Order: sequence, then structure tokens, then C-alpha cells
Amino acid sequence: MKGFIGARQTTLASEISLTGTGVHSGLRFLLSNGHADGTEIAADQRSVTGVTLCTVLGDGNGASVATVEHLLAALRGLGVDNALIEIDSPEVPIMDGSASRFVEAIDEVGLAELDAPRRFLKVLKRVSVEDAGAYGELAPHNGFHLDVEIDFDTPLIGTQRIEIDLNPGSFRRELARARTFGFMKDVERLWAAGLALGASLENTVAIGDDRIINREGLRFSDEFVRHKALDAVGDLALAGAPILGTFRSHRGGHRLNALVLQALFADADAWTMIEAPRYREVRHAELSHRLAAANFAAERS
Ligand SMILES: [Zn+2]
Repeated sequence: MKGFIGARQTTLASEISLTGTGVHSGLRFLLSNGHADGTEIAADQRSVTGVTLCTVLGDGNGASVATVEHLLAALRGLGVDNALIEIDSPEVPIMDGSASRFVEAIDEVGLAELDAPRRFLKVLKRVSVEDAGAYGELAPHNGFHLDVEIDFDTPLIGTQRIEIDLNPGSFRRELARARTFGFMKDVERLWAAGLALGASLENTVAIGDDRIINREGLRFSDEFVRHKALDAVGDLALAGAPILGTFRSHRGGHRLNALVLQALFADADAWTMIEAPRYREVRHAELSHRLAAANFAAERS
């Protein structure tokens, strides 16, 4: 179980004002926007309704929430198993384009340990997907390991690769602050299509023909691949439990991440759910044994 902070499930220690959270089963969104008011959508691979530019979850009846990946990455990256995320907008706020603000908010309230043993999705055999020049796979591993590579035809990005054993510390240090990026030449096309209207230099690393447009530059020299890894952590949170396995991707994105999870769940021999050892139950069993002995003694006297 290396890489995970404990054997028991966690939730947030109290509500966070910008999201509204509470004890619940798994990670779920509660919509409080217009006609979808009160609709709950599980952060589950089966709820994915869109993978263009961002990951969208829907209930199949028109209710949806978009851009879930950075928030889910923060929750999964910090080891939060259960949270209800109340949201009054059709889209999770982009904040600064990274998971940084969500991490800060979660850290402000901290986590609470629950009685339930932590559940993991254990990958039992390799499953792989090829899709339009992209490659992705999940393979067995005792922990959650990411190996992400990107390859863009511009010297400003080029080929970048990151390998990381994911735990709350490495997530915070290596991935959480990496921002979304986009190419200036694509922006007008997206705007014309009514997409990415909220994109700005406040929340996107903008790549021009020969330079990074943002005056502050990059947060990491390889911020791009780190952001792809961050997206993968968020998208793979849709497995419904922390993954014990290695995720590899080459030239991937939200679509590939979704396809890899689909391929995993399509093969019942490729995965299983396991629980962390129930240390606490052992203690309870000992205690109840002693209590029973004490009661027995009391009845006899
Ligand atoms: Zn992203």
C-alpha cells in the first residue's frame, strides 16, 4: 500500500466554503444549478459524457458538470476517498488552471479518518489502448505509479516525460501547480466555436509561435507534461477508488484516459477491488472479547 497515507478511508474534516462537502460514499457532485437542482452525479467512469478539452460528467438526462479533472485530481492526489462536491455552475471553476487552489482549500480543513477500511482498485493484468496516435495502458503495480509522455511539434514543448510514484507529498510538490496550456493559434478557433471562452493568461499557459505569452513564464520547465499527469490523476479518479497500478500514456489526454478506464472495466479479469487490512477491527475484536469476559464474570457473581 505504499504511497497512501493510511489503511482507512478519509473524508474532509469539515466543509470547504468554495465547494461544500460532507461525508458521503465516494466522490460525488451535487448540482444546485437551475433545472438540475438536487441532481447527484457520481465521479465514475460510467458518468463520462464528454472528453473534448475537459472531462464532463452527466446523469444521462441532461444534467452535467464539466472540467471536473483538476478538482478530482486534488481530492485523489491528497487521499480523499469520500466527498460531496456541491456546485452551482455547469463547470468547475478553472481557478488558475491547476489544482493549486483546491489543494490549498483541502489543506485548510484537513482530512478526517473514517471507520471504513480504504478500498483500492488493484490492476491484475495489463490493458492497453491505442487511439489516433495516442497510447495508454494500466499495468499491475503495488502503489500508484504514473509514466506520462507528451510529444508536441514545437520546440517550446517537444518531448517531455514524467515518472512519479503518487502520494500526497509528490502530488503537492510535482503536479498540483502545473497549469493548463493552449496554443494561441487555436484560441480564436475555439472562441468561434463558443469554447474556452473563459481561457485567459490568468488560467492558461499560452503558447505563441516562438515564445510563452504569459509574462511570468513557466512554473516548471516541463510544466506541460506535469499538467498532463495532473489531468490523468483526475481522470483516473473516475475509477471510483485509488488505483494500485502503473498508468502509462504517450500523447494522451482526457479521451485516452477515459478509453483506458473503459478497457480496464471491460475485462473482468483485469482488476479487482481490495480492502486495506482491518487493523481497527482486530482491536475491536480484542476489546469485545474482554467485555464479554467481564459480562460473563458479572453474571456469575
Ligand atoms: Zn487539465
